[in-house]
Amino acid sequence: MIYVSEIIRVVARLLIYILLVVWALPVHSDESFSPLILRVRVHLVRSIANPRLQTTLKGTEIHDIFDEVNTIWSQAGIRFELEKIDSVQALNVAPKKWYMRDRDWVKAAIPTNQFCPTTIDVCFVKDMGPNGFFYGEPVVVCEKPEFHKVSGGSDNPVARVTAHELGHVLFLQHRQDRTNLMASGKNGVSLNQQEIKDARKRALEILGQTPQP
Ligand SMILES: [Zn+2]
Repeated sequence: MIYVSEIIRVVARLLIYILLVVWALPVHSDESFSPLILRVRVHLVRSIANPRLQTTLKGTEIHDIFDEVNTIWSQAGIRFELEKIDSVQALNVAPKKWYMRDRDWVKAAIPTNQFCPTTIDVCFVKDMGPNGFFYGEPVVVCEKPEFHKVSGGSDNPVARVTAHELGHVLFLQHRQDRTNLMASGKNGVSLNQQEIKDARKRALEILGQTPQP
């Protein structure tokens, strides 16, 4: 009988120990990383008058770009849902003057009447000075970005530029850490905890939800 009671005592201690370990494990907060889905419409810019504006990208390449964008943004639990791809005819603006900033000239050439107020509009052009820009809609991305490779960077430079500009849509600023998504002219993809927090806060605002304090 003494032998049996010893076994019961050992088993009871073991169960208590297991319960304590399970109780002490860090609890993963589903709330903090519940997926946030933002809808995107892509516009392939067309222009006979200004060949620099006419993208050569096709729908399959746009899907590949957004697969990579979503791989990059998965670290923040944010997904950009590609809702539609269409073409947009550039306005017949005068050729760019030397004193004009490329981004201003490109933006002036893109009509906004096809844009959707409830989605993020992303336009692709063939060639321009900056790799991409966003200062109010739309996001504009160049299909031939110039960049420096960094360790662990993306193999799809157009996707990296798109993901960077979408970072600006989510109110992230530049941060010139070489491997960071928000560094200029690099192919790095990392985000720090503050950037993830800030981007998710803005994504919730876009979705019309109140961010948790
Ligand atoms: Zn930027």
